[in-house]
Amino acid sequence: MIDLHTHSSRSDGTDTPAQLVAQAAEVGLTTLALTDHDTTAGWDEAVEAARQHGIALVRGAELSTRHAGGSIHLLAYLFDPAHDGLRAEMDAVVHDRLPRLQRIVERLAEDGFEITWADVEAQLGTGRRTPSRPHIADALVAKGYAQHRDEIFRRWLHHGSRYYVPYYSIDTVTAIGLVRAAGGVPVLAHPFASRRQRAVAAESLPELVEAGLAGIEAEHRDQNPEEQALARRLATEHDLVVTGSSDFHGDGKLNRLGEYTTSPESLERIEALASGVTPLLRP
Ligand code: AMP
Ligand code: FE
Ligand code: FE
Ligand code: ZN
Repeated sequence: MIDLHTHSSRSDGTDTPAQLVAQAAEVGLTTLALTDHDTTAGWDEAVEAARQHGIALVRGAELSTRHAGGSIHLLAYLFDPAHDGLRAEMDAVVHDRLPRLQRIVERLAEDGFEITWADVEAQLGTGRRTPSRPHIADALVAKGYAQHRDEIFRRWLHHGSRYYVPYYSIDTVTAIGLVRAAGGVPVLAHPFASRRQRAVAAESLPELVEAGLAGIEAEHRDQNPEEQALARRLATEHDLVVTGSSDFHGDGKLNRLGEYTTSPESLERIEALASGVTPLLRP
């Protein structure tokens, strides 16, 4: 069982990389990809844990990008974490996230929510590299505004909400080029998930393929059967790798490890497309 999209507490998951890998082994995954938002900070700990638990590890990240006015999440696998250009862009995204979250908190406070920046800081804890909206949600849950992140998002933090503030991100075309330059494999994350964001327009795809896009995530909880079918059809049309994954965030989301999976053939294609600087680690 292969799950190529998961998050640890280095970004907005709730399990440390080691706990995440342990759970993956426990539920019977044979290959896990760690894809924290905009960071590789969890890689070393995950490598150690994967060796201990005897499962294969794909080191990756989920990059925040934008294209044609919309936000696009780009999964990047097996890239060189020391590549200057890619590293610089990931750092820039991470650094802009903090002032952006502070602005969201200000807007909430202006509207009467009892929340301060210190409340969010308390949720970030240690070892967190990528602060994001879920940490504001955690602070609001701690204050009793709802039981779970999910409800906070539905009511106040979703993309169309009056509290939403955008943050620095590079164009998807540029990001795809950088991932390729760093020897990695770029795959669109949940591109047609209309229920969570403005979906990627199918018309944008040729341009992204031209830039070096390698794959599309089709099976994902946030894409309905029609959206999954569209992803598979476009993948066939453009000769792209198809993946399916959980997008597990620990207790932060309802998504369960291994709820959607990727075929061994797709994983082989991803591995073959990577330069080998950051190899797929096998037990
Ligand atoms: P940001 O990158 O700061 O804009 O925050 C986006 C993150 O919020 C995504 O990575 C998701 O993991 C998370 N998210 C979006 N919707 C929900 C939800 N309904 N419940 C929990 N987390 C969510
Ligand atoms: Fe997330
Ligand atoms: Fe995502
Ligand atoms: Zn994700």
